[in-house]
Amino acid sequence: MGTPRLARPAPAGRDSLRPYRLTVARKRIVTPHLARITLTGADLAHYTEVGPEPRCKVLLPPAPGAEVVVPDTVPFWDAVRALPESLRPVVRTYTVRAARPADRELDIDFVLHGDNGPAARWAAAARPGDPVGVYGCLSSYDPPADTTGHLLVGDDTSLPAIAGITAALSASVSARVIVEVDGPDDEQPLESAADLTVTWLHRAGAEPGDPDLVLDAVRALPAFDPRTYAWVAGESAMVQAVRSTLVLDRDLTRQRVHFSGYWRRGSAEDD
Ligand SMILES: Cc1cc2nc3c(=O)[nH]c(=O)nc-3n(C[C@H](O)[C@H](O)[C@H](O)COP(=O)(O)OP(=O)(O)OC[C@H]3O[C@@H](n4cnc5c(N)ncnc54)[C@H](O)[C@@H]3O)c2cc1C
Repeated sequence: MGTPRLARPAPAGRDSLRPYRLTVARKRIVTPHLARITLTGADLAHYTEVGPEPRCKVLLPPAPGAEVVVPDTVPFWDAVRALPESLRPVVRTYTVRAARPADRELDIDFVLHGDNGPAARWAAAARPGDPVGVYGCLSSYDPPADTTGHLLVGDDTSLPAIAGITAALSASVSARVIVEVDGPDDEQPLESAADLTVTWLHRAGAEPGDPDLVLDAVRALPAFDPRTYAWVAGESAMVQAVRSTLVLDRDLTRQRVHFSGYWRRGSAEDD
């Protein structure tokens, strides 16, 4: 265990936030339930590195085949809300998996969770040339200076962020990762210079969003130093349950547990 040094810049301020008008360059099915969509556009010349888990808003067509209106007036979200409903884009939150501004490219990994959500539906059908907007980015991975180790807990939706965080950790730290995916084919190699221990949990066809699998794995962890920094993201009920067990049963202070509900079983992001 060492200091919590990251190999990339610390989280940036809000001046990194801006809109990007982009199109789909290509799509690759990375694992059975995940599509990596590469977006391209001249706006990416202005892309700013913000940290290891850049989160952004993705603006999608309000109906299949419709244009994506990305306002260029500020405040940006007031301008989006002021659009007539027929032109107002569908907005969802995603993580930039990789950015190559010099090549004007950005990768986003979309979980293909079925046709019940507009973003998953859009990703399943996306073709080169399809229009898309992005507004971002922010990153908030910010462990306290005396952190002795990192605990990253998540599901398919937080895997892009976890991959970014592990890649940013330096060789002097250790990290334990617990991720739930559907099956072995949904696992991905996680690059890291750190001393990494990864536990993959498999739903094996069960409906995603049941907290028990992840919760049991967290409860089964051997004792760890209270100066561990825990980052938990994924389905909301799972995140809440894991946070409670880390704070109440493992004595981590609230400041050492970053938690973020990425989606909620049975609810759309804009519900
Ligand atoms: C900071 C942040 C970063 C995120 N990064 C990513 C990312 O990189 N990749 C990614 O795929 N997602 C990511 N998400 C999660 C993503 O925003 C949600 O899954 C979102 O709900 C998907 O929108 P949708 O239109 O497909 O479904 P919605 O219209 O929001 O929901 C429709 C239905 O689908 C269900 N649903 C939503 N997501 C899932 C899922 N993953 N599995 C099963 N059922 C689901 C809902 O419960 C609802 O019943 C992130 C979320 C946050 C807050």
